[in-house]
Amino acid sequence: MNSMDMARQSERKEPYIRKTATLLTVERDAFASFSFDREACLVRGAWKEQMVRWGLDGSALLKTLSAPGKVEKREKLNSEAGLALAAAFYERAAEMLVGMAVPDDWQSVRERVISSGPAAMNKRAADFHRIYAPVGILPPDQYGALVLQLTTGCRYNRCSFCTFYRGQKYMVKSPEAFAEHIRQVKAMLGAALERRQAIFLGDAGALNVPRYILLEAMDLLAEHFPLPTAVARPRWPVYAFMDAFGVGPAALTEADVGTNAAALTTADFAMLREMGLSRVYIGVESGSEAVLRMLNKPVRPQVVAALVKTLKEAGIAVGVIFLLGVGGQKLAAQHAEESAALLAELPLDGQDTVFFSELVADEKSSYSDWVRRLVITPLTPEELAEQERAMRRTLPPREAGGPAVTRYDVREFIYY
Ligand code: SF4
Repeated sequence: MNSMDMARQSERKEPYIRKTATLLTVERDAFASFSFDREACLVRGAWKEQMVRWGLDGSALLKTLSAPGKVEKREKLNSEAGLALAAAFYERAAEMLVGMAVPDDWQSVRERVISSGPAAMNKRAADFHRIYAPVGILPPDQYGALVLQLTTGCRYNRCSFCTFYRGQKYMVKSPEAFAEHIRQVKAMLGAALERRQAIFLGDAGALNVPRYILLEAMDLLAEHFPLPTAVARPRWPVYAFMDAFGVGPAALTEADVGTNAAALTTADFAMLREMGLSRVYIGVESGSEAVLRMLNKPVRPQVVAALVKTLKEAGIAVGVIFLLGVGGQKLAAQHAEESAALLAELPLDGQDTVFFSELVADEKSSYSDWVRRLVITPLTPEELAEQERAMRRTLPPREAGGPAVTRYDVREFIYY
């Protein structure tokens, strides 16, 4: 079925309403569908061959289908282009909503979409740019978390393959500034805060700040959000990235990195767990020292193993991220073998997740330079799959209490 067939089929149907506790969807079918949050902001939509997910900053992930379920093209639109596309989607949604009844508690959203179009979404995007530094990346299961930036940027920022925070200054917020940030984020989201089920403490190394700053930040979260308790259903669990470079000063120098990951003890992490910290994500990348050196990532596999052990002893789940295809054919065997050995050493259980992420390096990154200079041959999709199998072979299966294993495609990232 081509896009014209999709459109024709869609236009023959009557629109209807679907709702969840946090989203109102008006749709005819999968090719004409628009979902709004409690503040009348478009969250996702589909029109003919276009499927779109919008970020809070107005940017969008646009997928163009060649046939139902088959993505032909994937594009990341900046805020300006994303909001322009949203305006067109609002018009179509409003046309469908006129004359339709919606549940009482969604009546005001219907009216705002019809009368004000994308005004709320434009305002939120403008607020976002004022309140947030760009959110460089999140773990794939946290794209819809409530991101609160205790830090912005990355204090190291020199891994050869990573451009998520390039050009961004690393900063740690004071408790006063962090409290103000929380207030502003809550005001920005308004009633749509309801959609968030977890807090992601941003950015790249929020847990690597000095201990007293981290504890004050966790206290502030407890003040602003009801944290998990032993008796209540967990709500607002806190997640964060942590690197295994240790707890260091505001900007990391070569002398600061190395083997001091134990700066936070098991007792510290146990206290953080009591305060809501539920899972820590670590970009391990590889179990091979040679690969890590080539990536200019200043960490050793033993340090990662020690950090994971400390976190698990404290009762905190981990998400460990390994790259696929890094070093191409040249380092493939070494990367797979030594990563499998490291995975075997990590005390992972059913609470944990191993993410395998195909390396997608920016053309301007020094990793890409290295690949060009040494004429490195990349792995084929089959070889990538084989590398993943080789790396996960030492993990116990899920049924035997092993960790979840999943792919992580950074091209899908959007903070929505
Ligand atoms: S991979 Fe992590 S530590 Fe390295 S530059 Fe990127 S964000 Fe920073």
